[in-house]
Amino acid sequence: MSIHKTEALVLNKWDFRETSIIAKFYTRDFGKFSGLFKGIRKEPQKFASSVDIFSFNEIVFYKKNNSQLYLVSQCDLRDNFTGIRGSMDKIPIASFIVELLGAIVPFEEPNQEILDLTLQCLKQLETSPNADKIKTIYTVKVLALSGFKPHLDSCVSCGAKFDGSVKFSFQLGGLLCMKCALKDPKARSIYRGTIASILYIERNDFSNILNLGMNPQIKKELGLVLNSFLQYHLEKELKSQKVLDNIANFTPTLEQVY
Ligand SMILES: [Zn+2]
Repeated sequence: MSIHKTEALVLNKWDFRETSIIAKFYTRDFGKFSGLFKGIRKEPQKFASSVDIFSFNEIVFYKKNNSQLYLVSQCDLRDNFTGIRGSMDKIPIASFIVELLGAIVPFEEPNQEILDLTLQCLKQLETSPNADKIKTIYTVKVLALSGFKPHLDSCVSCGAKFDGSVKFSFQLGGLLCMKCALKDPKARSIYRGTIASILYIERNDFSNILNLGMNPQIKKELGLVLNSFLQYHLEKELKSQKVLDNIANFTPTLEQVY
């Protein structure tokens, strides 16, 4: 039985038996895993953190020899991202960020760059007025860092460079030239500006990207393409994306407002 200490972002948590919880973490040194907090619901003061979703903590944990589960013996809060928790616009975006992270990374494979990107996005989200843009930046960058990056430099099928119209294939994971477009009958048209925006976000740092202007058409298409790309590769729609879609589609009537 060896004891370890690491930094851990809480991706999800659920009740376990009468008094305990299990939390799923993305940690700096051990990647994604689940840990048991024995008795925390009966004695919350046993831990110096309430293990909230998208909180960042330092944990001490160990694995029992004959068990698949890690036991967390200590949990100290580092950052609760309080600037997000007071905002009904920001909470669903932070929930999307940790749900996407949990879905995209394999178990027990650490990646410091992905953890730092996630913490940077949550930090920016606390103060930024543009929560949607943070969501877009996170999606493009986490796809690139986890090896799911869409192929946008040349035709994904024949390698030709582009000089005219192109189509985007979710199935093949990138752009098709018009000669190869028939290889995926479901490939969709895409604006050059949308492709340029994805490449710009992949290649630039946060402060530059936050200043990037986007016309509403490109912004809308970028959102649709990224959501469909994620859905295709994760083979499911994220629950937090459904919540965001419901919020976007909800237009209150005068009766509901007054
Ligand atoms: Zn081609």
